[in-house]
Amino acid sequence: MKKGRSVVNKLINYGIYLAVVAMFAAYLVISTTNDGLGTVAAARDSAPSIGSAPDPSPSSSPPPTPEPVYKGYCLNVPVLMYHHVEPIEQARAAWHAQLTVDVGVFENQMKYLISRGYKTIFADELVDALINKRSLPAKSVVITMDDGYSDIYTYAYEILKKHDIRANLMISTGLLENPGYMTWNQLKQMVQSGHVTAYDHTWSHSSLVGKSNEKAIYEIVTAKEQLEQQLAKNQNIFAYPYGTYDSRVISLLRENGFIAAFSTDGGTIQCDSFIMSLHRVRVGNFPLSAYGI
Ligand SMILES: [Zn+2]
Repeated sequence: MKKGRSVVNKLINYGIYLAVVAMFAAYLVISTTNDGLGTVAAARDSAPSIGSAPDPSPSSSPPPTPEPVYKGYCLNVPVLMYHHVEPIEQARAAWHAQLTVDVGVFENQMKYLISRGYKTIFADELVDALINKRSLPAKSVVITMDDGYSDIYTYAYEILKKHDIRANLMISTGLLENPGYMTWNQLKQMVQSGHVTAYDHTWSHSSLVGKSNEKAIYEIVTAKEQLEQQLAKNQNIFAYPYGTYDSRVISLLRENGFIAAFSTDGGTIQCDSFIMSLHRVRVGNFPLSAYGI
């Protein structure tokens, strides 16, 4: 009996052993087959997607439009970009409405900043904070106005004074005194009021990319020297005409004493890692809330 049970036990054990081996073998076959199918399917799926619409599902591959990488010391300080400020009908008649914020809209935008607790600061303050890794008052904002149009003196300046707002004028010095542009005396008057600071925007509003070193340096340094002479203030912050820049232009600026520059690249976060291409928000005729402010 004992022997018989032992034989039966051996047979059962052997049966279990065979069953386990068979299941393991079947598992190997199935998993290999699935892997094979999976690889084929992946290859078949991935081939047509090259250059086509991106896969909306999470993926380890980089997205087609990468988010800006904010490295280094960063501050969330919107830099608003204006050109002309005047009655919009007047701008339409002069064919530059697309570069104009209507004077009534501009005043409402300034009132909005005040009502939301924003504090307007000069570009020097933003640059100083980034370089020295200092904080700024909460809700600091930088207002920039490019090129030096006469309507900034006629219309915007009145609103700046009325609401005690600071603005930064990016000046192409060679254009001053021409029709449609402010005069040196108007610029000096605005700077002396304490509401305005002026910065280098080249001499003739020339893009610097693709220009010879000689021409680019002439454009940068002529405006710098004229502003320093007229306004008695060191110039070390720049704004790129047309927003165009490259590594060579940045090197030329650094070699000529510049420590920061404004681009037209969008965004409200400023970092010391891109201090030579700080970001700006192009403002048009909508309420500032439409621009994320
Ligand atoms: Zn410009």
